Amino acid sequence: MNAISAVSENTAFNVARWRADFPLLAEQVYDKPLVFLDSAASAQKPQSVIDAVSYCYEHEYANIHRGVYWLSQKSTEAYEQARVKVQGFINAASEREIVFTKGTTEAINLVASSYGGSELQAGDEIILSHLEHHANIVPWQLLRQRIGIEIKVAPIDEQGNFLLEEFEKLLSPRTRLVAITHGSNALGTIPPVDDIIRLSHARGALVLLDGAQAVVHGPVDVQALDVDFYAFSGHKLYGPSGIGVLYGKADLLKAMPPYQGGGDMIKSVTFEKTEFADIPGRFEAGTPHIAGAYGLSAAIDYVSAIGMSNIARHEQELLSYATARLQEINSLRLIGTADNKAGIVSFELDGVHAHDIGTILDREGIAVRVGHHCAQPLMERFNITGTVRASFGLYNNKADIDALVAALGAVREIFD
Ligand SMILES: *Cc1c(COP(=O)(O)O)cnc(C)c1O
Repeated sequence: MNAISAVSENTAFNVARWRADFPLLAEQVYDKPLVFLDSAASAQKPQSVIDAVSYCYEHEYANIHRGVYWLSQKSTEAYEQARVKVQGFINAASEREIVFTKGTTEAINLVASSYGGSELQAGDEIILSHLEHHANIVPWQLLRQRIGIEIKVAPIDEQGNFLLEEFEKLLSPRTRLVAITHGSNALGTIPPVDDIIRLSHARGALVLLDGAQAVVHGPVDVQALDVDFYAFSGHKLYGPSGIGVLYGKADLLKAMPPYQGGGDMIKSVTFEKTEFADIPGRFEAGTPHIAGAYGLSAAIDYVSAIGMSNIARHEQELLSYATARLQEINSLRLIGTADNKAGIVSFELDGVHAHDIGTILDREGIAVRVGHHCAQPLMERFNITGTVRASFGLYNNKADIDALVAALGAVREIFD
């Protein structure tokens, strides 16, 4: 038996161990133990990630790609090793296909601006879905303002399922790009991305997946997906904020103009002409989040040692448990009960404003997200202004869900 399958045998025991790796989870709020159920907004960090960031600043910190001296060579090496680590983690064909960005938002803006700005023309169509985070809506609207593309929106049903057949009808000879979430942060829905990519490619359209949630909740293989662009953030993957990734197929990236200009993205500069660096450096103008790369690399080591499939299995267990327990609560309505979901539950409580629920839960030490979750069009689709969202990370356990359910029961009593 290998280490990974051994891990999955005794989940409760292992979760207790994983949980102990996260110092912040031992904090108390209002003298109560913290129950952290907002990992979809940003995950807590294991000690190894905190240590890696500190290690950089304590022992190896200098600017990268510039100095001939020892320290700069060390930090440059670590930065580039982090790129190779990311490459392995999502199974990209080459580390040159990994562009470091600030996060998912910047990665999508990069594609919209650079690819969209150079390859798309007025009248070209792109397809988004009703599940999208604002980060995968607004950059395309900015592009529409700039060059006059058309934006179409693939619908979902009442349960939050992505409607593949409706999507297929939207594909036309003018469709150039399909930009879809690989996991909804608000509902948890995981769209059928294999089919979406196959159908899009058959029509000659490229596909960008917003992987901010999906990369955290299960294994991702960009080559198996045959996806053209893939974006995610370090901070949701138990790594630091301020660093994220754009994966792009090498041929596509090579043909794309720079997104920002500055230092570290050039071969040579005169006032007449600048020659740009090759990929991925061409897209990394300026001093990047150097310590963040150390932290992201440590985060990938951390989740890889547990195994993304084990994390997925654990979160699916929590999802089933939470879905069943929440339905015990009088007049609680789950928003988003799609067939294929990540560990996220969104709901509303009849007659109680989401913000009031969030505030009452907070006094019990329970951290949930309330509001529109940066997905206002999605909320509109359900005729609501927001939900309460509990999202699970690898460190959550059934006791966290029991605490949530008990506190919601108390909320229900206050408002009945
Ligand atoms: C969080 C999130 C984003 C934005 O990520 P940033 O880290 O804020 O750039 C985009 N899409 C989804 C699905 C998300 O969950």
